[in-house]
Amino acid sequence: MRERTLIKLSHYQAVLEGAGIPTFIRNESLAHLEVPIPTFCPALCVVEDGDYERAMQLLHESEAEAAKASIEDCTCGKCGETNPHSFDICWNCGTELAA
Ligand SMILES: [Zn+2]
Repeated sequence: MRERTLIKLSHYQAVLEGAGIPTFIRNESLAHLEVPIPTFCPALCVVEDGDYERAMQLLHESEAEAAKASIEDCTCGKCGETNPHSFDICWNCGTELAA
């Protein structure tokens, strides 16, 4: 569980660094002078106060994208219609959708 969290934090860190926002994953022993991001508190922090809001927005977007990807629509192999992931059969033509 802890490793999973760290992997996720590394991912978020990569997202922010990729957007030019310096961040660091806080070592518990270095608990001062940074701005913690509440969602990930106390582990992931931005270096510059001014980057905080942008960082949060980027992470929310990243989260939204991840959530979207996990419930990805499936495309009907027969008619090409897009169906919600929860559908077992195509709403358009009734063909069984691949899982
Ligand atoms: Zn179909």
